[in-house]
Amino acid sequence: MDVSERYVRLCGEVSNFTEVKTGVSFVDAYIGPENFAPEKQPKDTTPEELIHAIEELMDQVKSDVDTPLRAEHLLGECQSMVVTVNWLSGKNISYADLVRGLFNIPLKRFSESVIDKKIEELDEALREYSGSELRDRVTTFTKEGEISGADLKQLVESDLQTKAIEVGQMFQEKVYSFIGTTVTDNGVEYQTVTGAPWSGYNWYQKGFKSLNQFNIDVTFNKISLQGVIYHEYEHHVSNLWREKYFQETGNLELAVVPLHTGRCVISEGTADTAKEFLGVVEDNPNIEIDEALYTLRRMTSINAAIMLNDEGKSSEEAIEYMSERGYRTEKSATGSIGFIRPKMEDGRTNFWAPYVFTYFFGRTDFVLPTFNKAVEQDELARFYQTLYLNPYSGSSVTWNKAFNWLK
Ligand SMILES: [Zn+2]
Repeated sequence: MDVSERYVRLCGEVSNFTEVKTGVSFVDAYIGPENFAPEKQPKDTTPEELIHAIEELMDQVKSDVDTPLRAEHLLGECQSMVVTVNWLSGKNISYADLVRGLFNIPLKRFSESVIDKKIEELDEALREYSGSELRDRVTTFTKEGEISGADLKQLVESDLQTKAIEVGQMFQEKVYSFIGTTVTDNGVEYQTVTGAPWSGYNWYQKGFKSLNQFNIDVTFNKISLQGVIYHEYEHHVSNLWREKYFQETGNLELAVVPLHTGRCVISEGTADTAKEFLGVVEDNPNIEIDEALYTLRRMTSINAAIMLNDEGKSSEEAIEYMSERGYRTEKSATGSIGFIRPKMEDGRTNFWAPYVFTYFFGRTDFVLPTFNKAVEQDELARFYQTLYLNPYSGSSVTWNKAFNWLK
């Protein structure tokens, strides 16, 4: 069996394993032929057999794949698979080793003085709001924009659906024009769901289309939602190019979009940098406030995840920390605990527990500095070509090598 075929089959087997252990599939999207689909792969492979097979595959990659970036990408994804299987089969792995092993990034906690600085920025952004206490001003701002339930459903299915079409056009004008070629885009359909552990999710579907789902259990902010569209649409765009490349080359490994590998770091990083890609400059003080709140929330969630998973602190302590330092209501902090806590209600491992690191560090340690350099050196065309025309660049394992042509 060749490397790609073996890889895709193994991703399916690992996916069936994670599904049993956590309820979440390791394969986030699959766009390949039916007979290689994850659900068609064996469901009873033991963790030991999985590890052995992945290690054998890695040896085969080293001898058979002669394109360096492709080989490194595959090896990185395999390495993350090994860590995923070890983790979920009950091996004792520290949280720091888990984050590093899955995502190839170090576990970083934000010092309280860095958080204080962000709070000062938030204070400055909210200067026009009345009230002497920052918390009161944040509450006023947050209340103004709150939306949930039926109103949220209506907003998602009409306004956001329309906005997504506009964002799709912006990608064509501002990004594809640099690439010098275009890609089929059958669009994104907006839907609402309840009972999910996340607030929004982009499900890529074979055939150049996506389903974007929003969790209407969560109280959203109307302004943040406008930002969410850019994030989710970029996920869609990056998968469009992946599907195109897959069709053109037939490289079967690209038919699988795995979770919990170095790929996610870049994927969340590019999604969180979509506004910069599109040159969106908004002359609206509310957006500045929203962004200050967003960053503070990301940072305090990361610290809360470390409290829960590394320091053995309780959910109550993490919720208190997120509401206190992230300037959130207890309800909002409680709502996000499901994503970062080590175990789910039913006692199984929470698959998402290490994921919170991908967004912030994907953007600040990988995508944004490279993008800024490309802008400075007038190399945006080559930046987008490297990013979208070569899917193997899209991993924290290969990123720096793929962009080493930038000075
Ligand atoms: Zn995302």
